[in-house]
Amino acid sequence: MIDFGFSVSPSSRINLDSVDRESFAALAKLEPDVLKCMACGSCSASCTASQFEPTSVRRAILSLQNGQVEQALDLLKGCMMCGKCTMVCPRGINTRHLIISIQKIYGK
Ligand code: SF4
Ligand code: SF4
Repeated sequence: MIDFGFSVSPSSRINLDSVDRESFAALAKLEPDVLKCMACGSCSASCTASQFEPTSVRRAILSLQNGQVEQALDLLKGCMMCGKCTMVCPRGINTRHLIISIQKIYGK
């Protein structure tokens, strides 16, 4: 192979075959509505806490889908339970209840 003096970075995409899918499956059993999330970001855009802490329901759900439980908990620890995200979710997901369930399942 010709050496051009640089290399192409490996893909940073997560290999879903190698992540822990059990934890997200457990959440989906308790909160089937989490499967309706289309990652639109309305919840994150309206989040009161995100002005003060990196808080995002959307990113927390994506983290859990990727088996990144600690990251998901970090993204919800600033949540003030105001419920604005629930009011704006176009899929009608009770995100506030979802946050409580996530903390119940994964919280320490
Ligand atoms: S607003 Fe609802 S559908 Fe959109 S990212 Fe948040 S939880 Fe998912
Ligand atoms: S309930 Fe929590 S995550 Fe939802 S908008 Fe309020 S502070 Fe943000």
